[in-house]
This record gives sequence, C-alpha cells and structure tokens, in this order.
Amino acid sequence: MERDVFIGHGAAMTLKERLLDESDREFINVCGQCGMSAVENVEQRRVYCPNCDEETDIHEIEMSYAFKLLLDEMKALGIAPRLELIDAV
Ligand SMILES: [Zn+2]
Repeated sequence: MERDVFIGHGAAMTLKERLLDESDREFINVCGQCGMSAVENVEQRRVYCPNCDEETDIHEIEMSYAFKLLLDEMKALGIAPRLELIDAV
C-alpha cells in the first residue's frame, strides 16, 4: 500500500530510502568479468572470484537482502545468476 502510493507520486528517492536504505540493504562483491558473486577469504584477507580465480575486477555493489536471498536460492537450485554491471551516472 505504502509502496504503491510512493510509486504513484513518482517519489523514487523516497522509495529507495524506505525499501533499501532503511530496510535490508546489503553490500556484496561481484566479479566484473563473469558477473558471479565473489568470495571473501578473511584469513587470507582477499576477495576473489571462484569462477575466474582472479581478484582484480571485483566490485562492491548495493542490493536488498531479499534480492541477495533470491540469488542464493537460485544457486542452490543449480541456476547461475550473473549480474551485468554498468557504471552509474
Ligand atoms: Zn569472475
């Protein structure tokens, strides 16, 4: 209901604040080459892509925890979701 009112009035920034910033914002690392989520090894202090086995093109992106959960559940089903990264203007 609240979401539909915000969409109806075109308040994109308010919607982003309510549904992402003040809700379940999550930062994850994504490989820029293949689009798969990267892995952080705390002991070795490195973030790398297990698919490409590189740590040069890793980007930290912001998303909702619900979307991250969807990506994780897709991986559990054997589906490899890939994120296509573009520069934000
Ligand atoms: Zn990769």
